[in-house]
Amino acid sequence: MATLRFQALDKATSRKPVSFEETGRKSEIFGSNVFNDKAMRQFLTPDAYKAVKSAIELGTKIDRKIADYVAMGMKEWALSKNVTHYTHWFQPLTGTTAEKHDAFFETSMDGSDPVEKFGGSQLVQQEPDASSFPNGGIRNTFEARGYTAWDPTSPAFIFGSTLCIPTVFVSYTGEALDNKTPLLRALSAIDTAATEVAKYFDKNVKKITPTLGWEQEYFLIDAALAASRPDIIATGRTLLGHTSSKGQQLDDHYFGSIPTRVLQYMRELEYECMLLGIPVKTRHNEVAPGQFELAPIFEETNLAVDHNSLLMDVMEKVAERHDFKVLFHEKPFKGVNGSGKHNNWSLATDTGVNLLSPGKTPMSNLQFLTFFINTIKAVHDNEELLRASIASASNDHRLGANEAPPAIISVFIGQQLTKVLAELEGVTQGKLSPEEKTDLKLNVVGKLPDVLLDNTDRNRTSPFAFTGNKFEFRAVGSTANCAVSMTTLNSIVAKQLIDFKKEVDALIEKKDLKKDEAIFNILREYIKQTKNILFEGDGYSEAWAKEAKKRGLSNHKTTPEALKAKVSKKAFDLFAELGVMNHVEVESRYEIELEEYVKKIQIEGRVLGDIARNHVIPTAIKYQNTLIENVRGLKEIFGKDFEKIAKEQIALIKDISTHIEEIHRNIDEMISERKKANNLDNTEKMAAAYCNKVKPYFEIIREHSDKLELLVDDEMWTLTKYRELFFIK
Ligand code: ADP
Ligand code: MG
Repeated sequence: MATLRFQALDKATSRKPVSFEETGRKSEIFGSNVFNDKAMRQFLTPDAYKAVKSAIELGTKIDRKIADYVAMGMKEWALSKNVTHYTHWFQPLTGTTAEKHDAFFETSMDGSDPVEKFGGSQLVQQEPDASSFPNGGIRNTFEARGYTAWDPTSPAFIFGSTLCIPTVFVSYTGEALDNKTPLLRALSAIDTAATEVAKYFDKNVKKITPTLGWEQEYFLIDAALAASRPDIIATGRTLLGHTSSKGQQLDDHYFGSIPTRVLQYMRELEYECMLLGIPVKTRHNEVAPGQFELAPIFEETNLAVDHNSLLMDVMEKVAERHDFKVLFHEKPFKGVNGSGKHNNWSLATDTGVNLLSPGKTPMSNLQFLTFFINTIKAVHDNEELLRASIASASNDHRLGANEAPPAIISVFIGQQLTKVLAELEGVTQGKLSPEEKTDLKLNVVGKLPDVLLDNTDRNRTSPFAFTGNKFEFRAVGSTANCAVSMTTLNSIVAKQLIDFKKEVDALIEKKDLKKDEAIFNILREYIKQTKNILFEGDGYSEAWAKEAKKRGLSNHKTTPEALKAKVSKKAFDLFAELGVMNHVEVESRYEIELEEYVKKIQIEGRVLGDIARNHVIPTAIKYQNTLIENVRGLKEIFGKDFEKIAKEQIALIKDISTHIEEIHRNIDEMISERKKANNLDNTEKMAAAYCNKVKPYFEIIREHSDKLELLVDDEMWTLTKYRELFFIK
């Protein structure tokens, strides 16, 4: 009897929803565990408050003495909420978050004078043991230790009984060891570049803030069922499992009513998010059974990235209380949709304008078109780098698979804007006649708001789609730290805007064109140059893959292939020019991502070998033995007639033997390929070998195992089945 599976099923089927009641209105509790403006006003001295505000808004430094006052206020606030510990909270290159808790509590050497202590120095800087985090050779090169430093632009918050202080993580020589540092630099680069361009349209603009609204997709399965699957525990996905007869065919899950247990989970999750100031707004079922989505109101990008990382932690913690396991993996189950994390992105001015939203006047629409077309140009010129920014072993399962963006980057802009671009393409070279100017103002840029209102033809198959007032980068994986894709996107657009400004200024100076004439002229050229990246059709179709190939667009289906763009000369130059990452920082990230890829595939290979040999084969043999017993019995009773009577059983016995043999043989071959891969002398070669030589065995082994799942007596099968993982809630 397959005990673990049936015990888990017993547990899962007998659960009652863990009910949860919110206390207080959302608007009242929102941010109450955040050291936000309200808390700062209450707990900081006026000087300290002013210093922090100016650090947030203008990026000014906070001097040490003021930092002491800030720390004091923060500590008082935290103690007033029964907090006992503090931690620097950071995002090392593992892709997750890290924290090391220290108590506020201190005594003198002899144990006297117990006191709660937290000074400026503890707030501003800490030294976690950098050697335990991936550094891709940075430390070896510089023999440097790492330290964390307070990022005042993301407010401190309380999680559990710990005060968490968002920090950057850098080496003593200044190289970024985390995902936040390059992001902050990219945000600053695009602020500068976009402000310069926005000034063409409004002299009062002083600051541009990139905005991010992520949408987090995830699967929820019962904790006991999850724990009964060694592959889910070790890899976050099922390596084996025959597809359930019922999956998502009926489309009955999407936007359907949310199961009660899940709804209670979501309520508590949202409550926790409210306390932490994460402005979650929508929740609904997704397409696959057991799949859900959660999305917040968009925020400034650095804060939005922190909030997404924090959310993923909170989701796991709340899930424990509701006996659920959250699966963030991009493709936890074969045969149903995977999960993504759409990154909705735009640019906002300090004068309150969304630069990707068409305005009310021809001038504001020209501004919109400027940022819109420059974004398309940036994506066009850097499609491979953008693809590289979302590459990971787990996202490889999703890119190009059913109901997910393909590995080809293209931009969807909709019918109306396609028409507008076609008209702008016809703008005269050089100076424009007064008639043409009037026509452009009245009929092209003047009409935008009306046309966009009915721009409802949203293409769900595009990896990078314009959705009315923002771009939506949909190919980002559900496990990803948004900092990586956001660093790339903001960097390429920043670089593009710098180039655009230079080109426009040159036309104004050398050709004596008026500002808007120069802008029209440059935009016209961009429209001509970037047609290849625009695609309005079905992104999942075979035809598009062929067409994209003709257009010369990249289609890197695997991580080792895709990542190469990160270490191209173009990428090194781009990040260096903007001051986002130097050569060593870029290279180290490449190295770390390849290493991570190798480790993930290595672990999956091992786990797959183990469960195939320890679960699948023994079970198959057990079942085969009962068949053999049966045949033997039939022979005893029926004598030589038995062969006719036991025909099916005998065929089954043979079938099972074939699958067992194939599984054994393929595992042996996979192991020998793994050994060869491990002996290669560099990570790049190793990653390629794991990708092309080791990974292909996964599907073969799985196929034989899944066939056995269909043949073997259900009572004996040890691995919890897809239908159980999907539907028992
Ligand atoms: P969906 O893509 O599921 O149809 P919506 O298009 O309504 O949903 O919005 C999705 C996300 O877009 C939300 O998380 C929202 O906060 C975000 N969003 C809306 N406006 C902006 C903006 N200007 N900048 C960044 N994100 C935005
Ligand atoms: Mg969306």
